[in-house]
Amino acid sequence: NLSEKLDKAFHVLKGHGKITEVNVADTLKEVRRALLDADVNFKIAKDFTTKVKEKAIGQNVLTTLQPGQLMVKLVKDELTELMGGDAAGINLSGNPTVILMSGLQGSGKTTFSGKLANYLKTKKNKKPLLVACDIYRPAAINQLHVVGGQIGVEVYSEEGNRNPVEIAQNAVKHAKANGYNVVIVDTAGRLAVDEEMMNEIANVHKALQPQETLFVVDSMTGQDAVNTAKAFNDRLNFDGVILTKLDGDTRGGAAISIKSVVNKPIKFIGTGEKMEAIDVFYPNRMADRILGMGDVVSLVERAQEQYDEEEARKLQKKIAKNEFGFDDFLNQIQQVKKMGNMKDLIGMIPGAGKALKDVEIEDDAFKHIEAIIHSMTPGERSKPAIIDAKRKNRIAKGSGTSIQQVNQLLKQFDQMSKMMKMMQGGAGKNLMRMMGG
Ligand code: GDP
Ligand code: MG
Repeated sequence: NLSEKLDKAFHVLKGHGKITEVNVADTLKEVRRALLDADVNFKIAKDFTTKVKEKAIGQNVLTTLQPGQLMVKLVKDELTELMGGDAAGINLSGNPTVILMSGLQGSGKTTFSGKLANYLKTKKNKKPLLVACDIYRPAAINQLHVVGGQIGVEVYSEEGNRNPVEIAQNAVKHAKANGYNVVIVDTAGRLAVDEEMMNEIANVHKALQPQETLFVVDSMTGQDAVNTAKAFNDRLNFDGVILTKLDGDTRGGAAISIKSVVNKPIKFIGTGEKMEAIDVFYPNRMADRILGMGDVVSLVERAQEQYDEEEARKLQKKIAKNEFGFDDFLNQIQQVKKMGNMKDLIGMIPGAGKALKDVEIEDDAFKHIEAIIHSMTPGERSKPAIIDAKRKNRIAKGSGTSIQQVNQLLKQFDQMSKMMKMMQGGAGKNLMRMMGG
């Protein structure tokens, strides 16, 4: 990945004094390529590398142990800044708060409306109401009802009413009368930007004066996403962007381009079809992702949601004391399995996204691993170091696997333990805090 490449490119610099234009050129070419690969607009990528170059040149690397890491940091900081610096919150000050969805057909408005309602209900203790203003397809209204049913949120719709402004206004009245404090209005989109759609959403916008107008965009549409964002922003002056379909290894360069063009914060990302597949947008994590480092923090955070607090505290202690064993590992696997789509999760592990891109990942990928761990004695599980050749043989036989598979697992476990130890310092502090510290 890019991080490794930067590291390699700058390895030769160690002890060679300052970063110069000559030795930075190749690296920045790599950075530019990575950005273009991630669907960042060409001009933005070029401006970006120029800026990084200016910052890098003259930096003293004599005393820096890893000049590559310095470069990675420069690139990452700059990317983070470009995407908005800090995470932007959502304005929930209304009474009720009205949130209007806009975007093209298929961008994920209806799905995201459901995800957001679920998020506000479960995480922010709100009582949301979903409103079906996509009046053109009966299936669309039905879709929202299905979504609402899944998450236990009421859906307001009016059969036969062809006036979205009226429906939306009635919905707000209904919300006020029934104690709903957030009204999420799902609207109709078209396959491409057209006047009729823009007029309709602009009318709803004008009538409702929402606290939040969100523009929902499919991150896989790359450069088109930027043009669409601009068209909607010119008309609605929206408050934030929702990037959907940022699953697996979609790299999300659209985030950079959109932010640069409309200068509005990206507020949430959608990472799958399920109602839980929503994350707050953190520019620094997206920078990691674009650089191919994987989004470990999001991964851990999602895992965390499945944990019980007590469990998390225990685990934290164990990691700190270096007592993390195979029983804990097994426990983790069970947690991971609960989290859903394996491909999504693996895509977030540093380096794994690329390596496993073409590998078919079965949801029972852990079958062998579990069998092997089950064949270990409690002693072996808590102190894997005692597993010698003889024990490996027994474990392989007992679990119906091969010595190679046992070895592979031991190696993976070792790497994972090392990673956990690493995370205790520096950047890992946040992580430990999240895990209940
Ligand atoms: P709308 O036309 O804007 O309302 O879009 P929908 O919400 O109906 O979504 C269109 C399709 O994209 C549906 O099949 C959704 O399941 C899918 N979808 C929406 N968000 C995501 C996401 O974050 N990841 C993935 N993989 N699919 C999504
Ligand atoms: Mg829809």
